[in-house]
Amino acid sequence: MLIGIDDTDSRSEGGCTTYIAAVLVEKLAKYGDLINHPLLIRLNPNIKYRTRGNGAIAIGIETDKPEKVKQVVLDEVGSQSKLSDENTNPGVVFIDRASERMRCDLKSFSRRAIQDILEIEDAERLINRYSADGGDGDGSGVDDGDGGGMDFCRFKNGRGLIGALAAAGIAENGISDYTFELIAYREQSRIGTARDVDSESIRDADMRTYPRTWDTVDIANKTIVCVPHGPDPVLFGIRGEADAAIEAFGHIRSEPIERSVLFRTNQGTDMHLVRAAIDQTVDGRSYILKGVVSSAPRTICGGHVIFGIADTQSRAEIDCAAFEPTKNFREVVRKLAIGDRVVVCGSVNNRTVNLEKIRITHLADRYEIRNPVCACGRRMKSAGAGQGYRCKRCGSESDAPERVPVKRDLDCGWYEVPPSARRHIAKPLVRCTGGACLVHPGR
Ligand code: ATP
Repeated sequence: MLIGIDDTDSRSEGGCTTYIAAVLVEKLAKYGDLINHPLLIRLNPNIKYRTRGNGAIAIGIETDKPEKVKQVVLDEVGSQSKLSDENTNPGVVFIDRASERMRCDLKSFSRRAIQDILEIEDAERLINRYSADGGDGDGSGVDDGDGGGMDFCRFKNGRGLIGALAAAGIAENGISDYTFELIAYREQSRIGTARDVDSESIRDADMRTYPRTWDTVDIANKTIVCVPHGPDPVLFGIRGEADAAIEAFGHIRSEPIERSVLFRTNQGTDMHLVRAAIDQTVDGRSYILKGVVSSAPRTICGGHVIFGIADTQSRAEIDCAAFEPTKNFREVVRKLAIGDRVVVCGSVNNRTVNLEKIRITHLADRYEIRNPVCACGRRMKSAGAGQGYRCKRCGSESDAPERVPVKRDLDCGWYEVPPSARRHIAKPLVRCTGGACLVHPGR
């Protein structure tokens, strides 16, 4: 049985869907054999309803007590969800057996949940098609045996069914690229107080395990990234390869840890990005776009840096932004010039790409314009607007200024936002080494 769960927590009241999964893996072990690690799936990062990183979870279990498993899951979700928050609308799905068609439908639903914006009705339609009290498999009005493999439970408006189905769909179909996150949780009595984690030990853990772990610290911006600050039960989370995350965990000194769980996850995979042309982009989705810098970077109020790119064929243009929280990444972006060829990655909102990564593929030649040097060796002076140049010593004249090539203080290759500004789902460049292209990982 695959179990998908989402939307149990609240920004103000705390809680965390991953914590429910952590408790469930312990409680469910009595009723069967857990399959693999629990899954933590990050969905479209642009969803306005999200509490933090738009995560949903899935657990797989081989069991001959499915009704008992469902009851344990629903009791846990019911008791731990922050239902008094109007934005908390939990959804739970159980998949007992998936027909080929259900598997296909789930696959496409999961992809859309990661790359697009869905409605609760989209989840309901899928559930109605396959749940026992739902439909007939294909909407034809005839029960052709495809129904019955899915069960579900919604709390309040049940928006969490979207994430629950998407996570269960990934568990059903598998993912070709994945990473791990080892999450340590706080004792209940400490939740809401300042977290006590020794920074030095985190830096040490990072030094020992980077690049097999990432986004633990942000060295350039002197920040610890792996320790959150809210009222949730997470003490810290180490992202990376499984063995490296476990190794790092062993070096971190902290307040007592209530429990810890290693999640398999689509974090750090770029599953949200879609290749497209600039004129195909819509708000709320995330893209890989090719273009030529068409307006020079400018820093606007708040410290955000904006520049434009254009499609060489359609001439469609879009703004790209390195927002203030991307800190030192903005220094790279400020060095771009009109004519540079780039590939940008990020979400589009208000017709602006919120940059996560940029690849500079070609640097345009830049020149400094100076007054020309006369044959007599002296630099000429301007002869007046539109009248060229004249040598004060010998009287020689010239129309053309001198164009001196300027050395660009920028290399081609991939650049990325620093760890402190990284979205969970974005693939860090440290996972992209080994190709032909130069990468400049943020660290
Ligand atoms: P946490 O980080 O603790 O897991 P969160 O950031 O995941 O919290 P949720 O509380 O799960 O946020 O809220 C996100 C809500 O958005 C859920 O109800 C989920 O089902 C829904 N959702 C997820 N992806 C999409 C999507 N692509 N389209 C529409 N709704 C979505």
